[in-house]
Amino acid sequence: MSLTGRPTWQLKRGAYKQVHGENYGTPKEVWGFRTKAASGAPRAIAREFLNANTDLFEIEQGLAGLEIQRVIQSLGATHVILRQAHKGRSIHRGYISVHMDRAGRVFLVKNRTVPARLLPDRFEKRLDRDAAVRRARHSLPKKQRLAKARSAKLVWFPVEAKLVLAWKVRLTRQAPREEWLVYLDARTGFNLSSYDNLAQASTGRGLVFDPNPVTALGDHRLLLTPKKRARQPPPVAYREVSLLGLDTSGTLSGDRVSTQPTRRRVRSANGKFLLSAHERGFEEVMVYYHVDAALRYLEELGYRGARAIFRQPVPVNVNGSRDDNSWYSPEEQMLTFGTGDIDDAEDGETILHELGHAIQDAICPGFGQSDQAAAMGEGFGDYFAASFFAERKPPRYHDTVMSWDGLLLGLSSRTEPPGLRRLDSALTFTDFVEDGDEHDNGVIWSATLWEIRAALTRPVADKIIIESHFQLDGFTKFDRGARAIMDADRHLYGGRHRDALANIFRRRKIAPL
Ligand SMILES: [Zn+2]
Repeated sequence: MSLTGRPTWQLKRGAYKQVHGENYGTPKEVWGFRTKAASGAPRAIAREFLNANTDLFEIEQGLAGLEIQRVIQSLGATHVILRQAHKGRSIHRGYISVHMDRAGRVFLVKNRTVPARLLPDRFEKRLDRDAAVRRARHSLPKKQRLAKARSAKLVWFPVEAKLVLAWKVRLTRQAPREEWLVYLDARTGFNLSSYDNLAQASTGRGLVFDPNPVTALGDHRLLLTPKKRARQPPPVAYREVSLLGLDTSGTLSGDRVSTQPTRRRVRSANGKFLLSAHERGFEEVMVYYHVDAALRYLEELGYRGARAIFRQPVPVNVNGSRDDNSWYSPEEQMLTFGTGDIDDAEDGETILHELGHAIQDAICPGFGQSDQAAAMGEGFGDYFAASFFAERKPPRYHDTVMSWDGLLLGLSSRTEPPGLRRLDSALTFTDFVEDGDEHDNGVIWSATLWEIRAALTRPVADKIIIESHFQLDGFTKFDRGARAIMDADRHLYGGRHRDALANIFRRRKIAPL
């Protein structure tokens, strides 16, 4: 089947970006292009596209050895994954994936195939199946030798730039549940790799404020000394939580977030990080837990896989300044928290406000360069924090953010309850002050978003607000932001909330442009 002529599918040199793999000299990832729209099944489009680019990826004409393994649908794209085999045996981690939008336009390829020139045409197998299973079992740590062999099959295993025929032996054990995969060179019996498949990411335990001690106690006065200074929160202000996705380094580094830039990082060999606020490391636990949870939530909304907003764990320095200030640096793509007054990273809402800046910058690089865009940045950060935590705060704190981090400031400005900012302002765009403070102006935007959430419910509002950022730019304005939200509603919900949104923008004197 030919969808369109081949020439339109072929990537032209210089019309795309790529990174090369270390071993094979072929591109590991190719992006920065978009083919023409095409109708047809995604699997057919993927095959057609690859067939037109066999030279680039050094795969065989006709895609010999490549077989479609999975077709995954995400919110706005389709991802076709092809596995590589050679002489009827699969190649360990050999795959290529083709990613296309809903109009069939390919925009990304990820490639881990072994180039055709490196595929061996001869191989030798001296180890038989039973001997392989015996050896595999013996290669395990002593305690695990009682594991049951579930399967043993021959596969190709890459060793540097060469493929070796190997036995892949799968062994399992109950209580504790383990699944060992052992790869043995089929010629020499040499152990090429063995690992417990179920122990790749580990789970730790930590103590956190969720989001902060004021909301946990429901009354800020319990946290003040007679001289109106903040006191150490009592044990009841803490919650014990699981720290998910940690790597095995013993530090707070994982799939989604890492405190790696922090000086004198906390370490724990057994994954227990049960620290109080006055102990070193507590702020790292706070940041790890809350950033990880917020990013998992974005993934639940649909921003995962090829649609993931972050490609790498977000790096965080939890005590990078002695000032009462925190920031996101677009240059370093890193979050920094200050320790002045109450440590900023002791408040989950401050953490998520800063993460809001990182989310905007990840979607829309250089966000916040005009007065209005900067105000939208602050407003979004407050909205994101308030929206994420609302359901676990007492009702009287719903409309307030950072009631711990901003406690002393809130007391002196006599807001009730005390907090850094509120989301229920009645201000409209006519109150926007040119050259004014972006946090003050931002209150107009956060109140608008907050009203959208009240009208549309949390998941709908969060989704269209995040989605709207994909069409914004660094110099955006309130009116374009409003249009982007209406567009996102049309794309995701067929415009079902158009009237409700239009009413809110009208009341706020923002005309969707
Ligand atoms: Zn901010």
